Amino acid sequence: MARRPDCDVAIIGGGHNGLVCAFYLAQAGLRVTVLERRGILGGAAVTEEFHPGFRNSTASYTVSLLQPKIIADLKLYEHGLRIVERKLANFLPLEDGRYLAVGEGRTKDEVAKFSTRDAERLDAYHQRLGAVSALVRGLMLETPPNVTGAGFLAAFPELLKAGRLARRLGALDLAAKRDLLALLGRSAGDYLDDWFESDPIKAVYGFDGIVGNYASPYMPGSGYVLLHHLLGEVNGKRGAWGHAIGGMGAVTQAMAKACAAQGVEISLDAPVREVLVEKGRAAGVVCENGEAVRAKAVISNLNPKLLFQKLVDPALLPEDFRARIAAYRMGSGTLRMNVALSRLPRFSCLPQKGDHLTAGIIIAPSLAYMDRAYHAARTNGWSENPVVEMLVPSTLDDSLAPKGAHVASLFCQHVAPVLPDGASWDDRRDQAADRMIATVDRYAPGFAASVIARQVLTPLDLERIFGLTGGDIMHGRLELDQLFAARPVLGHGDYRMPMPGLYLCGSGSHPGGGVTGAPGHNAAREVLKDFRR
Ligand SMILES: Cc1cc2nc3c(=O)[nH]c(=O)nc-3n(C[C@H](O)[C@H](O)[C@H](O)COP(=O)(O)OP(=O)(O)OC[C@H]3O[C@@H](n4cnc5c(N)ncnc54)[C@H](O)[C@@H]3O)c2cc1C
Repeated sequence: MARRPDCDVAIIGGGHNGLVCAFYLAQAGLRVTVLERRGILGGAAVTEEFHPGFRNSTASYTVSLLQPKIIADLKLYEHGLRIVERKLANFLPLEDGRYLAVGEGRTKDEVAKFSTRDAERLDAYHQRLGAVSALVRGLMLETPPNVTGAGFLAAFPELLKAGRLARRLGALDLAAKRDLLALLGRSAGDYLDDWFESDPIKAVYGFDGIVGNYASPYMPGSGYVLLHHLLGEVNGKRGAWGHAIGGMGAVTQAMAKACAAQGVEISLDAPVREVLVEKGRAAGVVCENGEAVRAKAVISNLNPKLLFQKLVDPALLPEDFRARIAAYRMGSGTLRMNVALSRLPRFSCLPQKGDHLTAGIIIAPSLAYMDRAYHAARTNGWSENPVVEMLVPSTLDDSLAPKGAHVASLFCQHVAPVLPDGASWDDRRDQAADRMIATVDRYAPGFAASVIARQVLTPLDLERIFGLTGGDIMHGRLELDQLFAARPVLGHGDYRMPMPGLYLCGSGSHPGGGVTGAPGHNAAREVLKDFRR
């Protein structure tokens, strides 16, 4: 077997979390090697040309959750990152000719078009949700208290952490405590029905509960997913979503520069075949080409199912852990499309150009529509009336398309991770994509005819290209038993896996999916603690 110089840490995968983790470790003086399977860094946060002259964020497409501390520590702005706000947050076109526009200074008047009672309740809704999201946001860069059976000495620091958490929970007022419980235990739909009576505002807010969540908005668990999508900010504006100029690849390219400045060694086209184990300890990795990289510690940016079912000898894992990983639920039920457009979409309800074309355009007029779309997908693979969010990033960024032309990101929810009739997504890709485009066309006639080219990524494509098992954009469902101290498995919520020297730094660890950088940041802290020991 060929040998390469030893390093302190080998990181499997150059997704954004792998890069963040690499940065902090190298900054602390460790020799770090990142091995990325693809020929491009960034994992699900990349920008690629999908048609000559047309570039777009291939998978993830909008930014909010990226932690301000990480932006500052990695000096991402100095490395070229620029994030701009949408001119309008969301736009919900309706078939009856009306629409709802949601954004700073506009939401109240807009909601009042449908219900004055709902408009009056907006401030209280945001205030109450704000208290809960502040608490959860504050936990993102923390390591959850770990459940350990390793005796009092190991348990004591975890008890202290749990105590600090209890104190923060205690500081919430009673209403916020009740809201937190409701959001963790109930559905987004039930929560929103308690607050509002008109469909459009419930649809705009409820969409957050089903993004990357193959579930009805009326299923328990969707409440937390709604909260998860509110944890970010853009340029200091809490809960806002924005656009990285140059697409999401600009985020990871800036991270790569930060890593390079710290001396991180990065290999592209370097798929790892297995984790090297010696005397029960992770001792490096072996690449597909047989090359070994020996290291004192191995950190995986992969989703836990992929890591433990493909790269680690199962005989070396505790039986219960293996069973839990087998049962770990993945499959976010999403189809992603990039389209090259000869012109901007013209919505029947608002045909002129305007700020609404910079917004997250949600095609799903009500929670009931989303509920039906989910149930149809369970039976037929996708709904004839699907849920589509569309963004036209070229309205904010002229680097993506030739002058006069545009690119749009279509993020289609509620497509079955595995088709219920056993067919392959390879045989249904175009049929599903046609339905998504026809759906946008219903609200913006002429849209289909303006599509010059399209790139369609089914759940199967997301798995093949990005290693996202089941096409899961979050590295595992964001459900109570797969969150916080239980992500990925209770007893391993502290980034340490059940093999000495092996760590997880990807979205399958706390605080889960999205372009946050938080798992990478937190994993680095725990690895450094162990190195210092
Ligand atoms: C379609 C889609 C839309 C999304 N939209 C958004 C959005 O708009 N905003 C947002 O915040 N989040 C979004 N997300 C979620 C977010 O992008 C992901 O949760 C996040 O990027 C995951 O980052 P990560 O670093 O944890 O893992 P990944 O990005 O999955 O990185 C893992 C890396 O490991 C590499 N790898 C896999 N196997 C191997 C191997 N054997 N050897 C070496 N390397 C390997 C992969 O190629 C990849 O680069 C979206 C995701 C998808 C897929």
